[in-house]
Amino acid sequence: MPKIAIVGSGFLGLTLALRLAEAGARVCIFESANEIGGLASAWQIGDVVWDKHYHVTLLSDSFTRKIVEEIGLGDEFDWVETRTGFYTDGKLVSMSNSVEFLKFPPLDLISKFRLGATIFYASRVKDWKALEKISVEDWLTKLSGKKTFEKIWKPLLKAKLGLAYKETSAAFIWATIQRMYAARNSGLKKEMFGYVSGGYARVLARMGEHLKAKGIEIRFNTQVQTIETSGDGRIEISTAKTQRREEFAKEIYPQIITGTHKSNLETNAIAVVENVATSHDQRTTYDFDSVILTCPSNVAAKILPQLTTDEKSKLSNIRYQGIVCASMLTKKSLSEFYVTNITDETPFTGIIEMSALVDKKEFGGNALVYLPKYVAPDDALFEKSDEEIKETFLAALEKMYLHFKREDVVDFKISRVRQVFPLPTLNYSENLPSMKTSLENVYVVNSSHIVNGTLNVNETIQLAERAFAEITLN
Ligand SMILES: Cc1cc2nc3c(=O)[nH]c(=O)nc-3n(C[C@H](O)[C@H](O)[C@H](O)COP(=O)(O)OP(=O)(O)OC[C@H]3O[C@@H](n4cnc5c(N)ncnc54)[C@H](O)[C@@H]3O)c2cc1C
Repeated sequence: MPKIAIVGSGFLGLTLALRLAEAGARVCIFESANEIGGLASAWQIGDVVWDKHYHVTLLSDSFTRKIVEEIGLGDEFDWVETRTGFYTDGKLVSMSNSVEFLKFPPLDLISKFRLGATIFYASRVKDWKALEKISVEDWLTKLSGKKTFEKIWKPLLKAKLGLAYKETSAAFIWATIQRMYAARNSGLKKEMFGYVSGGYARVLARMGEHLKAKGIEIRFNTQVQTIETSGDGRIEISTAKTQRREEFAKEIYPQIITGTHKSNLETNAIAVVENVATSHDQRTTYDFDSVILTCPSNVAAKILPQLTTDEKSKLSNIRYQGIVCASMLTKKSLSEFYVTNITDETPFTGIIEMSALVDKKEFGGNALVYLPKYVAPDDALFEKSDEEIKETFLAALEKMYLHFKREDVVDFKISRVRQVFPLPTLNYSENLPSMKTSLENVYVVNSSHIVNGTLNVNETIQLAERAFAEITLN
């Protein structure tokens, strides 16, 4: 029975572990956090436990639906028709159907026609590889015109990519439009979005039990530091215990209230403790036959010192986009829109009102709103305290929604992730390292290998199924 190690317990690592165990391997997952799920994991906000980052399943997400079915929760999906808003020129308008599109104020009729034609054309294009050679700005300007690019496309691109939109290929917007169309085309030609009652916390808890029943071991708070192959075919994995940093910090600085509303001082104290925690931790080394790393590419390059210079540079050259994502539990809804796209300058780059999709009963009758700001991994926003970010975000909401009152806010929490998705730069797939490395039985598989899609759980599971087929065939 081969002994296989997996680094990371996000959906990629979990699905790979499941398939490998089903194929007869002994699988152990190493996870630096204290829980499974990675980006899809949940946390507590007020009295509610829900996803740290907003998640929705589309009717067309067949891979997600299949795995949720396998773990016995397939009947638990609620499917809801959602609406989309646009906040533009200081006004909130609905853009949920063709009639509303025709009435959309900021564009004249010809621009609207060109915008509609661009989206329709993109939905019909099959050769995404050709689009990797064209910048998204050039492609959209050519199809929609300069005015529409500046007024609509540019703010939307900047919302997700920041200034890196200038280096991004047209394949990015193509993949986004394809996913949007898939959502409308499956079923009722309406935007039907789904969630499992209890959110990803419930799905992941069930997934964890399912994996345990298959004999898969998960080592939490265990950060993989180096992986090296020895001449006799063994693979040595060195790990360090990542004792829950905030708990460790609390032991040393008991005045720290962790999780919410951290001041600068508290954030700094935790950063100091983080270093202490790592350097004082015990190292442990394990032997395996194969290993699959699902962590970000630049992290993998550091963990694998024996890779060739070319492999290391390819992995390190993959650029990531990060996120600072606020969750707000509040007594009153902001609007009826699940997604509100924003074309004006605001401190966040969109508004996702989860309670416009999920029954408010799940949130104790409150509204749950996410305020994401996608930024580069070295953006100064990562250094800002929770209090500073909260103040800026709430002040912006007060200007945008006259009925919004900060006294209604029940809880406000902030998640920071420096590496969320790889930027689909020009000729992206040509520079991508293969999943199989030059080291025998060592694989690096992560979201960078989603080359013609967008980052979502469905694509992640699909990638895991593809990787499983390649890994076992070799
Ligand atoms: C804001 C936001 C909104 C999203 N919305 C949606 C949505 O609506 N619908 C949807 O389907 N998807 C959505 N997604 C995407 C979805 O969350 C991801 O596609 C998926 O969770 C990625 O899984 P993964 O396993 O590839 O990576 P991750 O979840 O990042 O997992 C990687 C794991 O590796 C661990 N790790 C890293 N380094 C080490 C190390 N050295 N040692 C041990 N462990 C390590 C990490 O702790 C982490 O747990 C969203 C994501 C975000 C951030």
